[in-house]
Amino acid sequence: MSAVAIAAKVEAFVRDVVAPYERDPRCGAHGPSDDLVAELRAKARAAGVLTPHILADGTHLDHREVAVVLHAAGLSPLGPVAVNVAAPDEGNMYLLGKVATADQKVRFLAPILAGEARSAFFMTEPATDGGAGSDPSMLQTLATRDGNGWRIDGRKAFITGAEGAKVGIVMAKAEEGASLFLVDLPDPAIRIERVLDTIDCSMPGGHAVVAIEGLKVTADQMLGAPGDGFKLAQVRLAPARLTHCMRWLGACTRANEIATDYANRRQAFGKPLIDHEGVGFMLAENVIDLKQAELMIAWCADVLDTGALGTVESSMAKVAVSEALMRIADRCVQAMGGTGVSGDTIVEQVFREVRAFRIYDGPTEVHKWSLAKKIKRDWIAAQ
Ligand SMILES: Cc1cc2nc3c(=O)[nH]c(=O)nc-3n(C[C@H](O)[C@H](O)[C@H](O)COP(=O)(O)OP(=O)(O)OC[C@H]3O[C@@H](n4cnc5c(N)ncnc54)[C@H](O)[C@@H]3O)c2cc1C
Repeated sequence: MSAVAIAAKVEAFVRDVVAPYERDPRCGAHGPSDDLVAELRAKARAAGVLTPHILADGTHLDHREVAVVLHAAGLSPLGPVAVNVAAPDEGNMYLLGKVATADQKVRFLAPILAGEARSAFFMTEPATDGGAGSDPSMLQTLATRDGNGWRIDGRKAFITGAEGAKVGIVMAKAEEGASLFLVDLPDPAIRIERVLDTIDCSMPGGHAVVAIEGLKVTADQMLGAPGDGFKLAQVRLAPARLTHCMRWLGACTRANEIATDYANRRQAFGKPLIDHEGVGFMLAENVIDLKQAELMIAWCADVLDTGALGTVESSMAKVAVSEALMRIADRCVQAMGGTGVSGDTIVEQVFREVRAFRIYDGPTEVHKWSLAKKIKRDWIAAQ
């Protein structure tokens, strides 16, 4: 089946089956409950749209193809988790598919692919401890040799889905440098201190502050070699940034549909809102921003499809798309008046989700700063 046909199936499933769950009371402040996720995934499995970006023979769609499928999944904030293309699982599946050993794939990847296990990526550390955030080199969590294996100690923050996850990828500093470890969850040595109250609410388990105290892992639970952590994280980084763009583009497409419907039906001062230039222009700017975001994603996906790491291109795409989506979501809220800030539609949720997206997977300023450093390097090289 072509990617376009897969996307059409996913879109029909998300619009017809998933969207009616958007008001389900199990959609909590810390994300949809695991019970709701299981119910949605059973329906996705039956409809043949579970984990749609990885084919039955294990083939991963290319990035350009993933873009159309994840856009379709993103049409509801519940869509990605329902069809198993949500963050952080989608990025973790990608990373493990590329770099895990055969045994690691059976133990850690297969249950995520099957939609039976959620996973979490443990990198960021509490700002109050002076740990890794925008600057990953500030990593404090330690991995020390313990017999043939390792012992890990530290604290992590903002770990999406840690509560309820069955697979963890933990970044810790060994003598050789940052390293990645695969762990089964829950583990008594990984304690959820608290789940943060954050602006967004689409990701199951929310975002947790976690204490890791005397976690024992065997040598075969290391991903790659000691010191490979940042190199391997790079494998995940650019594609994962871009898939966020794809899903949230889907969400903003839907928010814009809702705002457009409102502006055409709702009357003020004797005519539909859309006939007032102020509102019509907001919707016009939305379709321009939506198209620019789509093209930016397609351009970056093409670069990744050449096999390049796409670090610079994904930084540019992440900034351009997340900032465009923020403008789109804000205009949707504004065009809908009071209804826009109410829970009667998903528009206010999309606004909150996109706000958080401007921070995770690299805040806008960090991407611009690294682009500025490259501009300077290129200028010096050209002298
Ligand atoms: C909803 C959400 C989910 C997340 N999920 C995960 C997860 O699953 N796993 C994980 O490991 N982490 C996760 N994170 C953490 C995320 O990656 C970090 O929040 C991000 O890297 C920023 O780090 P920080 O919060 O410590 O901000 P800080 O490092 O304290 O930065 C604060 C601000 O300073 C500015 N800044 C920083 N550096 C520069 C610079 N060089 N130039 C200009 N300005 C700069 C930026 O505006 C930035 O927003 C998540 C975060 C959020 C909000």
